[in-house]
Amino acid sequence: MQRRRRILITGGAGFLGSHLCERLLGEGNEVICLDNFFTGSRGNIRHLLDDPWFDLVRHDVTEPMKIEADQIYNLACPASPVHYQRDPVQTTKTSVHGAINVLDLARRLGVRVLQASTSEVYGDPEVHPQTESYWGRVNPVGPRSCYDEGKRCAETLFFDFNRQYALPIKVARIFNTYGPRMQPDDGRVVSNFIVQALTGQPITIFGDGSQTRSFCYVDDLIDGLVRLMASPEEVTGPVNIGNPSEFSMLELADQVIALTGSKSAIQFRPLPQDDPRQRQPDIAVARAQLGWVPQVPLATGLERTIDYFRQLLADATHDGLPR
Ligand code: NAD
Ligand code: UDP
Repeated sequence: MQRRRRILITGGAGFLGSHLCERLLGEGNEVICLDNFFTGSRGNIRHLLDDPWFDLVRHDVTEPMKIEADQIYNLACPASPVHYQRDPVQTTKTSVHGAINVLDLARRLGVRVLQASTSEVYGDPEVHPQTESYWGRVNPVGPRSCYDEGKRCAETLFFDFNRQYALPIKVARIFNTYGPRMQPDDGRVVSNFIVQALTGQPITIFGDGSQTRSFCYVDDLIDGLVRLMASPEEVTGPVNIGNPSEFSMLELADQVIALTGSKSAIQFRPLPQDDPRQRQPDIAVARAQLGWVPQVPLATGLERTIDYFRQLLADATHDGLPR
C-alpha cells in the first residue's frame, strides 16, 4: 500500500486551496493547510476541521516556516484584482518573500514544490492563444504590476532553485478559474455577475464587454494541478492550465442572465487600467505531458456555481455571510 503523504498547501483556506485540500484528503493523504486568512476563510474549510488527517496552521508566508511535509503546493496570494490591489506592497511580498520561504523549506526537506502561477504573467498579450514560450507584455509600474510582476519573480525564483540546487519544481500557469467557494464580494467577474443576477442588481460590464477570458471550472483545474505534481521529475513547467473555450464578457453576462432567469439590466462601467483585451490558453503542453484536458463546459460549471451562490445567499438572509 502507498504510504500516506503529508502535503502542505499554502493558501489552503482560499477558493482553490480549499478544493485542493478536499481532493488530496479524499485520496488518503494528510493535509496541512497554511493560511493567514487575508482572503481565505474558515468557512471554506470548516467541513474538513474534524478530519484527523487535516491540520490548520495560521501563518503568513512572508515569514519563514518550519513544517515537515512530503510535498508543497504554494497557493498563498490574493487572486482577485480588488484584493491584490488593496495592499499592493503586501501582494508583492507574498509572491516574492513567500516563494523564497516556501522554496527554502522545500530545499531543506528535499521535496517537490508546486507554484500556482498565473496567466497574468502574459499581461495584455500580443500572442493569441498564449503558449508557454511567449514571454508576455506586462506593465511593470501599473496597478496590476504587484500581482503580475510578483508572480513573474516567483517563477524566476522557482527556476533558479531548480537550476542552482536541483530542487524538483512544478510551475502551473492558471487561467481564470471559477466555481463554488469564490467569495461573493471577491470582485471577480463570474462571482460578480452571478451575485448581481441573483439579487436583481445591474450586471456591471467594464468597458464595452468585448474583452475575452477563458473560464476553467475548479474541479478541472484541481485535477490539472494534481497531475502536474505527480508528473515525472523532468516536467517542471511552466504549463498552462485552463479551459481554451473563450468568451467575451458580454457573452458571459448573457449566459448568466439566461441560466438564472434574472431580470437584471446590463450597466457599463469604465474599463480598469491595463485590463487585458483577450486571454486564451494553448494547452498542448498540458495535454501532451499530463494527459490533461478540461471536462466541464461553461454552462455546466455556471449552473453548479449558481446553485452554490443561491444557497449561500439564502443562508445569508438567516445568519450573515459565512466568513
Ligand atoms: P484566494 O484569494 O481565494 O486564495 C488565496 C489564499 O491565500 C487565501 O486563503 C488567502 O488568505 C491566502 N493568503 C494570501 N496571502 C497570504 C500570506 N501572505 N500568507 C498566507 N496565506 C496567504 O484565491 P484563489 O483563487 O484560491 O487563488 C489561489 C492561487 O491561485 C493564488 O496564488 C492565485 O494567484 C492563483 N491563481 C488563481 C486564479 C483563479 O482564477 N482563481 C488564476 C490564476 C492564478
Ligand atoms: N469585469 C467586468 N465586470 C465585473 C468584474 C470584472 O466586466 O464586475 C471584467 C474585467 O474588467 C476583466 C474580466 O471581467 O476584463 C475578468 O475580470 P476578473 O477580475 O474576473 O479577472 P482578470 O481580469 O484578473 O482576468
